[in-house]
Amino acid sequence: MRVLVTGGAGFIGSAIVRYLVGEERVQVLNVDKLTYASNLASVAPVSHDSNYALLKADICDPVRMAAAFADFQPDGVIHLAAETHVDRSITGSAAFIETNITGTYVLLEAARRYFENLSAKRRDTFRFLHVSTDEVYGSLGAEGMFTEETAYDPSSPYSASKAASDHLILAWHRTYGLPTIISNCSNNYGPYQFPEKLIPLMILNALDGKPLPVYGNGSNVRDWLYVDDHVRALFLILRRGQVGEKYNVGGRNEQTNLGVVERICELMDRFNPAGFSHRRHVCFVTDRPGHDQRYAIDASRLETELGWSAKETFDTGIEKTVRWYLDNRAWWESVRRGVYAGERLGLDGKRERPLAAVKRDAK
Ligand code: NAD
Repeated sequence: MRVLVTGGAGFIGSAIVRYLVGEERVQVLNVDKLTYASNLASVAPVSHDSNYALLKADICDPVRMAAAFADFQPDGVIHLAAETHVDRSITGSAAFIETNITGTYVLLEAARRYFENLSAKRRDTFRFLHVSTDEVYGSLGAEGMFTEETAYDPSSPYSASKAASDHLILAWHRTYGLPTIISNCSNNYGPYQFPEKLIPLMILNALDGKPLPVYGNGSNVRDWLYVDDHVRALFLILRRGQVGEKYNVGGRNEQTNLGVVERICELMDRFNPAGFSHRRHVCFVTDRPGHDQRYAIDASRLETELGWSAKETFDTGIEKTVRWYLDNRAWWESVRRGVYAGERLGLDGKRERPLAAVKRDAK
């Protein structure tokens, strides 16, 4: 099997590349622009494998995308390339509109022309899986969960751009018969995640004895999924999912942001004792504008139709993740020296409240 993966040098994409090449022996072409969020060290475990190739290219480039399909002759596509950080989308949405919407359109057109020239036999099995987010559904109150029927109601420039791309994916199926499938997943975490995202940022700040800034009052709820569980779900959906359909992916692991940070502190107290509890560094900072209150995914369809279930609980997954960052300094030290040193993003000109505004006592 030959799979064209876009964004395979990012967090989830590199996990897919390692899994497909390393465990499933699938031939992979990784199409990635290598933006600030990419890291080729994340695909190093398989980068010398004969089943792996990298194409450094922008998905917004129609000539290069057409050539990628023609040269590689994929049996399927897993499309992950995107601008992904909500905070960055607040201060600079242009790149999100360009890559997430125009880039998806360019890729769809390249896939459509390629698909139309395939033999009938190869057309039967070709699939285009678009990897999207539960953030397209907006925010929940205290009760309920997102299902595949939940109406779209995105809040941030990031989630709006992903929602737009989901609509393009469905339209290319309905209008042109391209065999597309959409997956909408909750927050991922695990090894190799870029340290601007909540969990790695908190682990590394705790390690450095820096403040652990929690947005607002920390009560926002997210449904966390360990990245390797997501990867298994995506390969299953690519092979066995129903064309023209959507699948929600989530770990049934709802946590408040403050709960996540406190759990990381407990693990850091165990694995990296500092003589005091790391909780003393937790502080509350100005909330993210448009911050959704709660996300929760109902993954019943994926569980019952395709037999998927998450292997990791939040407790097992977060422990593995904290250990990985402690054991893999070289990976994140180069990121922190280079493109991102841990600064606050996404305030859009508003002033930060002093970190000391609400400081928690050490336990
Ligand atoms: P990431 O930011 O870690 O990686 C994105 C990758 O895409 C990078 O390697 C980057 O270089 C590449 N890229 C960006 N613009 C490109 C372009 N124009 N052309 C080619 N490559 C480009 O992202 P991630 O967290 O791994 O997320 C991957 C996908 O999964 C995204 O589509 C995201 O919306 C979706 N998703 C992520 C999460 C999550 O919690 N991280 C949850 C649900 C869905």
